[in-house]
Amino acid sequence: MQESIIEQMQLNNHEQVVFCQDKQTGLNAIIAIHNTTLGPALGGTRMWNYASHQDGLTDALRLSRGMSYKAAISGLNLGGGKAVIIGDAGKLKSEVFWRRYGKFVDSLNGKYITAEDVNTCAADMEYIGMETEFVTGKPEYLGGSGDPSPFTAYGVYMGMKAAANKVWGNDSLSGKKVVLQGAGNVGQFIIGYLVADGAKVYVCDINETRLKQTLNKFPGVEVVDGNTIFDMDMDIYAPCALGATLNTDSITRLKAAVVAGCANNQLADENVHGPMLKDKGIVYVPDFLINAGGLINISVELDGYNKERSLSMVEKIYSRTLEIFALSEKDNIHTQLAAMQIAERRINDIGQLRTRM
Ligand code: NAD
Repeated sequence: MQESIIEQMQLNNHEQVVFCQDKQTGLNAIIAIHNTTLGPALGGTRMWNYASHQDGLTDALRLSRGMSYKAAISGLNLGGGKAVIIGDAGKLKSEVFWRRYGKFVDSLNGKYITAEDVNTCAADMEYIGMETEFVTGKPEYLGGSGDPSPFTAYGVYMGMKAAANKVWGNDSLSGKKVVLQGAGNVGQFIIGYLVADGAKVYVCDINETRLKQTLNKFPGVEVVDGNTIFDMDMDIYAPCALGATLNTDSITRLKAAVVAGCANNQLADENVHGPMLKDKGIVYVPDFLINAGGLINISVELDGYNKERSLSMVEKIYSRTLEIFALSEKDNIHTQLAAMQIAERRINDIGQLRTRM
């Protein structure tokens, strides 16, 4: 039997969930706020044609919790939140739709700050911004930070280099065989860094146009069949498309020394597949750390955007990755758990400090 909404919130200690509906625009949204100990909950608005309202709620709860970890491990003074809009982006989007949504976001008085996510873009944020100041990821001509993908890619590159240092004793990715699953917005920029570093890059994507674009831009990249990547010999597997590609079957077959990519929720089950990677001696860079570059970039927008500041903050993903490896080794725990513990400790410590001030 499905737990009640409150029971679902209690499971991972979510603070607040807001349900929004508007007949005129056809808007049905769920804003999930997981934890605001460190600051307002920042997280994108995802638009998806969920099969049921429950599926939308489940996604909002899961994603908002992930944002709490991502902000905490990245040293940001932000909490975790995420919104989902249930419906067909191709049919529903309009100025009035986004402005109605902006009014709902505004009603939370800054406890939740929104941004782009799957099926939402900077232009949508511009409409939301007409009704609320609590929106980031606005276009550059409005003083926003624009597309977060290059910053996410830079963070992934930093995480890969830290993993290389751990496994091969130095940061260089020269000559390393890297297999990217997904050559999308972030993947394109990761390939750029890898090629410049002298890595041998293999890529698969279900979108032929993307593959053609990649080959035009980077002729040395080799296209591989997505169905056989887990049987290839490689140094680094970079999941840059979907979540949950690390499952019992793929990990059993995987011949990589490192897993480092931008996808969210890479482990099908963190309690099963985190330990499984560790037992196989595969160094896994936790997803919510390595792909935090985009969040870091939009967080800088809140203080007045500055690209150099943003890049220097993203660069710290390198040292944080090493910190996580060190804890994982010291306590003999898998790296995802080590990252979660560091994030939770920061939330608890800063929370206690604030109650004393
Ligand atoms: P995107 O949609 O631009 O790229 C994803 C690519 O993966 C597409 O080219 C798509 O065709 C391909 N793909 C989909 N299914 C595939 C499959 N089964 N096999 C191979 N390729 C497949 O998305 P993006 O912005 O590059 O983001 C990639 C991932 O990183 C997503 O999981 C996203 O949630 C995550 N992420 C992105 C950012 C960001 O800044 N864009 C930040 C954090 C996390």
